[in-house]
Amino acid sequence: MPDYDLVIRNGTVVTAADTQACDIGIKSGTIATLGRFLGAGAREIDAAGKLVLPGAIDSHCHIEQHSSAGVMCADDFYSATVAAAFGGTTTVIPFAAQHRGQSLREVVSHYHEAAGPKAVIDYAFHLIVSDPSEQVLGQELPALIQDGYTSFKVYMTYDLLRLNDRQMLDILALARREGALVMVHAENHDMIQWLADRLLQKGMSAPRYHAVAHARLAEGEATNRAVALSQLLDVPLLIVHVSAAEAIEVIRNAQTRGLKIYGETCPQYLFLTATTSAWTSKAPNSAARRRRATRRHRRRCGAGCRTARSRCFRQTTRPTASTKPANC
Ligand SMILES: [Zn+2]
Repeated sequence: MPDYDLVIRNGTVVTAADTQACDIGIKSGTIATLGRFLGAGAREIDAAGKLVLPGAIDSHCHIEQHSSAGVMCADDFYSATVAAAFGGTTTVIPFAAQHRGQSLREVVSHYHEAAGPKAVIDYAFHLIVSDPSEQVLGQELPALIQDGYTSFKVYMTYDLLRLNDRQMLDILALARREGALVMVHAENHDMIQWLADRLLQKGMSAPRYHAVAHARLAEGEATNRAVALSQLLDVPLLIVHVSAAEAIEVIRNAQTRGLKIYGETCPQYLFLTATTSAWTSKAPNSAARRRRATRRHRRRCGAGCRTARSRCFRQTTRPTASTKPANC
């Protein structure tokens, strides 16, 4: 009779504490032993020359989610979780997004119906609250928090999602009372809308104007306001989708003052800059401009650089403007 259900041998095992060459013995789905020369397993995997890591948790992703504008994410729960597994991620936490007028309870069960038959790894849900009605604040949200849905995202911009400051305070107060974590997408809606309206009046609707409309100041201002709202109620707040230095400054400053403010970014917010979006637009002469800019970059970058500035990792990749994808 084998000692273990599964033994992973000869790998380099990485734990929270250290990295060492050892075997892993697994019984009934849990790690029973870490050590050398373990007894036989019913099944054995040779991990020689490989790192053996704990599964990663992707705590912020959008899967099979209808945006408020009615656009469906490209990935469904099958393709997204298969892709995650190939990257070593064994748990995803996407969002169950409420649209205005919807019952939050029903939204959550719809997402479970969508994920249940398709997901190949573990999953949980954050909530997105776009309609903090009396029913939602008084009954649904406290009950869902009791059931373990202890984090939810709110938006300060986008027509069909945004909450005003008073609604934000209601949500933050509820989170404080019930022991949940609020995540916020912080951008000043009116600044963005004012700029977007003027750009559209002039026919400037190419992708690169997205960066103009989403001014960095708009993110800095809203982040500052979100921090103040959470400070008023002394409740933790996670600022998600951070893409601008102005927002980082506000977060750093709040943390220095001992406030429970956390920030989260994603690779696209750091690498998809205003420069990149200018190049992907169909603006006239963009190809010629791109070639000129690449030549200019190579001259300056030196050391045999053969790539465009936007793809050059020697350059600082500080974003020149916020380029948050809509409704993310
Ligand atoms: Zn997001």
